[in-house]
Formats: sequence, C-alpha cells, structure tokens
Amino acid sequence: MRPRPPERTLILGAGPAGLMAGYVLANAGLDVCVVERAPQVGGLSGSHGFEAASGTYRFDFGGHRFITANRELLHLVDELLGEDLLTAERSSVIRFEGRTYRYPLALPDLLRNAPIAMLAGALRDLIRVSLTRPGSAESFAEWIEARFGHTLYRAFFEGYTRKLWGIDPRHLSADWAAQRISLIDLRDVARRLVPGARATPRTYARRYRYPRTGFGLLFERLAERFVEAGGQLVLGTRVEQLELASGRIVSVVGRSPQGECRFDAEHFVSTLPLPELVRLSGGDSKLRFRGLRFFQVLVDRPDVSPYTWQYLSDPELVATRLQEPKRRSPFMSPPGRTSLMFEIPCDPGDELWECSDAQLYSRVCRDLELLGVDSAALTGESFSRRAPCAYPLMDLDYARERARSIAWLNQFSNLSLCGRQGTFRYIFSDTAMEMGLGVARSLIEAPERRPDVLELRNEPTVIEVESVV
Ligand SMILES: Cc1cc2nc3c(=O)[nH]c(=O)nc-3n(C[C@H](O)[C@H](O)[C@H](O)COP(=O)(O)OP(=O)(O)OC[C@H]3O[C@@H](n4cnc5c(N)ncnc54)[C@H](O)[C@@H]3O)c2cc1C
Repeated sequence: MRPRPPERTLILGAGPAGLMAGYVLANAGLDVCVVERAPQVGGLSGSHGFEAASGTYRFDFGGHRFITANRELLHLVDELLGEDLLTAERSSVIRFEGRTYRYPLALPDLLRNAPIAMLAGALRDLIRVSLTRPGSAESFAEWIEARFGHTLYRAFFEGYTRKLWGIDPRHLSADWAAQRISLIDLRDVARRLVPGARATPRTYARRYRYPRTGFGLLFERLAERFVEAGGQLVLGTRVEQLELASGRIVSVVGRSPQGECRFDAEHFVSTLPLPELVRLSGGDSKLRFRGLRFFQVLVDRPDVSPYTWQYLSDPELVATRLQEPKRRSPFMSPPGRTSLMFEIPCDPGDELWECSDAQLYSRVCRDLELLGVDSAALTGESFSRRAPCAYPLMDLDYARERARSIAWLNQFSNLSLCGRQGTFRYIFSDTAMEMGLGVARSLIEAPERRPDVLELRNEPTVIEVESVV
C-alpha cells in the first residue's frame, strides 16, 4: 500500500517557512495547524505599526526586500499582493570616517571619495589580489582579505563585522562571507572600469519587490489564504515542551495567556531556533544567535536622505545600519513625514539590549549629528523591538555543532526542520518559503521519506537575482 501523508501536521512558528508549509498542506486538503508565540504572523519578516498624533508609521524588523530566483514563488507573491506589490530601487551607501561610499564598492566612487592613503593601499592590494587566486579561507577575515585586500578589509569590514557579530572577524566562519557577501571583489571592481570587459557572473539586485504597507503584509495575506483553505492558526502560544515516545514526537505543549494547551499530531514541522528545539527534546546544543534591537524614531520632515540603507562602519556608532522605511514604500509614514530605524546588534543581558528607550534616544541623537543629520528634526517619539535570534552566529565551530544538533533531532522520525532559525542558515525569506514548500510537497508526495531541505540553495556564492519585472 502506498504510504499516505500525515493525518494531522503541527507546524511550529508562523514565519515565512511555517506559513508556506501550512498553506501548501491545507490546500492539499490535509489537516494542519500552525502554532505561533507572537500575537501576529510573519516572524522576522513581519511588520508593525506605530500610532502617533501625526498618523501611522510602519516598520519591519530591519527593512526587508523581496528578491527570488523562483518564478513560482514570485507568481504566488504577485497573486497574494496584487496592486499592493510595489517595485522599489535600492540605494545604499557605506558611511565611514565622515565619508560616504557607494554600496557595493565601486572603483570610480572610491577614487573620488577615499583618502589618498586608503587608495594607495587598495591599489597595492589590487596588484597582489590580481596575481593570486583566492585559496580556501577558514575565517571571514581571511576570505575578505584574499578578495578585497587588507586595506579595504580594515576600512569597511573589520569594525563593521566586529560590531555586527560581537566577535573578532578571525573567529567568524568564511561561510558567512561566501554565502552573503554576494557582491564583488576588488578584481570585479577593477574589471568594471575596462570598456567591453566580460560581465562579472555575480549580479546585484538593485530593484526589488516591496509590499505597500510593509514586508509583513505578504505574510498576513499568506496566513489569510492558509485559514481560508481550512488551516488552523493559533497565535500568542509559546511552544514550551515536547512529549516524546519511541523515537517520535507525540505532542507539543504550549503556553498562552489563557494557560497551558496540548497539540497532538502525526507529523511535526519546526521553524523554531534549532538549539531551542534540541533543548526542548532533552539534548544540548552550543549553537548561538546574534540578537538585534531595532530602534525607531519619528522625524518631522519629509525626508532625511535618498538612501534605503546606510551601512555604518565606524565602531563608535551604535548601529550597523540606518534605514529610512519610506525609501521602500511612501506608505510607511504619513504624508510629509518620515522615520528612521537603527539596527543595533546586541544580545539579551548586554547594556545596549537592556537600556531604556530614553537612554538609547540620546545616544542615537549624538550619532545622527556625527552623520550630519540634524537631530532637532526628531519628534522625540521612539520605540524598540527586539529579536534575540536575528542572525545565526557562524563561528569557526558552527558547522560541526550544527551537524551534531541535526543528528540529535534526526532520531525523531516524525519531525521535519525548515526555515532560517530552524535549520540554522543565513537565508532570506524566499528561501525560507521554498523550504516550507519543499517540506510540504515532500509530505504529500513522498511521505515515507524525510523531507530534505536543510541545504537548499546553499551554493558557495549566492547570486542575487534581479527577479522583478
Ligand atoms: C535585519 C534583518 C534583515 C533581513 N532582510 C531581509 C530581506 O531584505 N529580504 C528577505 O527576504 N529576508 C530578509 N531577512 C531574513 C528573513 O527575515 C528571514 O529569512 C525569514 O523571516 C525566515 O523565516 P522563518 O519562517 O524561517 O523564520 P522566522 O521569520 O523567524 O519565523 C519563526 C517563527 O517562529 C516563532 N517561534 C519561535 N520560537 C517559538 C516558540 N517557542 N513557540 C512558538 N513560536 C515560536 C517566532 O515567533 C517566529 O514567528 C532579514 C532578517 C533580518 C534579521
């Protein structure tokens, strides 16, 4: 007899991965429930509003943009959002020592803006980099130095990376750079100057899709479709315990403001942070995440800058990125007003994580002045959102520890892992959705096999795809 899909599936987490898996299973007529800790859907890809006297302001957890290589996914996103899907153009810069550089780095811009000493060092490095093929690098620092040279590493990567991850870049795995520095290296930069030179294989998506009222709108729509298809969505319920028997998960115990609740199922799909799931099932995992505090301030002015992102390389500036949500969609703030968001890397217990909004406010006002923004334009209204598991921390040991955590969880035959935290992968929402899709299709079409999505789109170099229009 052909194996049948699970009678009932419980999905842990209503972010892009969990919702996508739920949507596909529910549309196949299967019994499926998604349980989510937060009062809203979307996870890290959600959005939130701030009601001020001047109107409604909207923010993401760090500005998001939608790009994908997957036509099927793009089609679904188009269909879910219809006219609420806008196309935006990315304009990003790096701020360092009082100067503004284009992001990604471009040689003409460097020649115009960089101090002579930096240029001399970069040109020296270019000759060296051009004469050697990058070998295998273990650490992030080695990877960058082999491609960009020591001078640009020191200027643009070292301080920024240390601030972002809270560890020395020599202790960070080269995997992170290989997967996420999707841009160009010094040779690419130089090649672009030569007329008729062969185009570099790597591309950089300047245009991207963005929902009218914030990235989270996409997942609110997906959740609506999931419920319309018969799926059950339980919000505000934190998964706290797994009940296990004979190498299987029998049920999940959750806690909501109303008390404890139990969810039985035949199959479980987890998008919860991988080390958390290991601990809930009685194991141990040393995998760690880097947290982010998002600090948003309102501005009584139509615009602050033309930039979507400003990467703040100077270590003394508290944030790694400064964003103006209105650059993604004009509907992110009321007419004639704008807002700013500071992405501040820190972990629970750190001073930056724990300090009050009022304390942080004076600190960011000082930073804005250093960046040449008149802080008198700020209205004084501000608020924070915190994400303790924003980035999987890919230190030098992470790959071994990740494999160990996955091997532990593989003992449960009715468990599938997917998503960014769930597989401990530095992926974007499109890949998280593809993982959810992959898990659900596998449960429908080949229920006898464990879905295999853990390494989906794990190419050594991510190619950003111009997926729009
Ligand atoms: C600063 C920043 C910028 C980013 N920019 C982009 C971008 O521009 N474009 C892009 O596509 N992606 C971007 N991403 C990545 C994107 O946010 C993620 O890839 C995506 O949200 C991952 O989806 P997920 O479903 O795997 O995980 P999540 O979105 O994290 O969802 C997991 C869900 O599980 C829930 N959960 C956790 N623990 C429990 C528990 N114990 N019980 C119940 N529920 C629980 C969480 O509340 C959450 O809702 C960015 C991420 C960050 C941090």
